[in-house]
Amino acid sequence: MSSPLHSWGRYPHTPQAAHACSWVSDVAALRDGVLAAHGTTLAYGNGRSYGDSCMAASDHVLYMRTLDRFIHVDWQQGVVQAEAGVTLAEILAIAIPQGWFLSVTPGTQFATLGGAIANDVHGKNHHLRGTFGNHVRRFGLLRNNEEPLSCSPNENTELYAATIGGLGLTGIITWAEIQLIPIRASQIDSKVVRFDNLAEFFSLSSELDHQHEYSVAWIDCLAKGAQTGRGVFIVGDHARYGSLEVDERAKLSVPLTPPISLINNLSLRAFNDLYWRVHPAQSTRKRSSYEPFFYPLDRILHWNRIYGRRGFQQYQCVIPDAVAEVVMRDLLSAIAESGQGSFLAVLKRCGYIASPGLLSFPLPGTSLALDFPQKADLARLFTQLDAIVREGGGRLYPAKDAHMSGADFRQAYAGWERLEALRDPSLNSHFWKRVTQ
Ligand SMILES: Cc1cc2nc3c(=O)[nH]c(=O)nc-3n(C[C@H](O)[C@H](O)[C@H](O)COP(=O)(O)OP(=O)(O)OC[C@H]3O[C@@H](n4cnc5c(N)ncnc54)[C@H](O)[C@@H]3O)c2cc1C
Repeated sequence: MSSPLHSWGRYPHTPQAAHACSWVSDVAALRDGVLAAHGTTLAYGNGRSYGDSCMAASDHVLYMRTLDRFIHVDWQQGVVQAEAGVTLAEILAIAIPQGWFLSVTPGTQFATLGGAIANDVHGKNHHLRGTFGNHVRRFGLLRNNEEPLSCSPNENTELYAATIGGLGLTGIITWAEIQLIPIRASQIDSKVVRFDNLAEFFSLSSELDHQHEYSVAWIDCLAKGAQTGRGVFIVGDHARYGSLEVDERAKLSVPLTPPISLINNLSLRAFNDLYWRVHPAQSTRKRSSYEPFFYPLDRILHWNRIYGRRGFQQYQCVIPDAVAEVVMRDLLSAIAESGQGSFLAVLKRCGYIASPGLLSFPLPGTSLALDFPQKADLARLFTQLDAIVREGGGRLYPAKDAHMSGADFRQAYAGWERLEALRDPSLNSHFWKRVTQ
């Protein structure tokens, strides 16, 4: 491929030369060529990770998106086997008309199967279904100087666990087989409830989460004082009656990257305040297609460009249940005080279902995620937030990260040494070098 690849946040700026894989049978030879010339490499899915975990330490990645064929589908059981570069959108396009949906989906449908496994992504139903890895039946793994392996809960079990959430370091996933969930309609019935502060979020979550498949809250990260953590709580379920239609609405696109970020403190404050106010105080119900419910940002292609040439960072942490409310209040107060933040911050309770993955991010607790335009004084705020997360026994999400210290990573992810022992030495990322070496 001619143009270099970046991560979604376009920060840090380490352009990646892409070596595209066309056939599963050719991946080993392509990888060997890259290794001979550049020493190490890394699989790259569709670049929907924000930080540097999808950036090869050598700056030469194997581009997997072109491995995009379905291998086998079983509509009786809802099982799909496909090459690793198939996107979640492509799976939905064939599964929905047959009455099946992804068991777990992140907030973008443009992630690939390989990327979803390597980051063990989670969605709005973590409290009921765990992570993506909980629904992975098998996958093919290609390691340097080894025969291709099949990994599942019964074969090559250690590599199965280490690859789920393994940040692409245990080998190249060439194909995967996942379990879907049955649906009767592609529409989502949702309920929206506005809340005035963080305490109300926690009580709504305790009351509503277990009654609904999906649950998430958007919060005004700039609200202060008694209004800290005010926002909009959204729960939803697959409609029981309706049609099975793939959403094919035309997408908008941000055509180019402006020299500076279009996000500033004024536009942020106005948007956050307005978003909260346009939602009525009484709860409202609505039926929508699945796309605006799960993937609102996917409607605007290249939306990451609005942050300008310097890019942006996402800060996502999860805080254990026992201290979640007080720690979230401290985090949100620090963010509001700094005046920096994102249009909409996402707050979500994670549940107790353990992932099979060795280095999975979610833990029973509450996750907060928000975007920040990249600028010089961001480091000061992140140092402050990191200290609060550390003291609260929480951790940051490698898929979104471009700044976490090695000490924080190693403290929070006890399985990292096991992953390092199982790492295919021909694979390495900027992230892994930064936090382990
Ligand atoms: C708008 C938006 C919303 C998001 N919402 C969520 C969310 O709700 N929950 C969540 O968990 N994440 C979320 N994410 C993050 C995203 O889902 C993950 O970063 C996902 O892993 C990206 O997949 P990708 O195919 O683009 O992989 P990439 O970003 O290209 O790579 C991610 C990792 O996967 C590895 N990898 C990719 N392909 C392979 C392969 N074939 N073999 C081995 N390793 C491979 C890479 O080496 C890298 O370590 C969101 C991202 C965006 C942009």
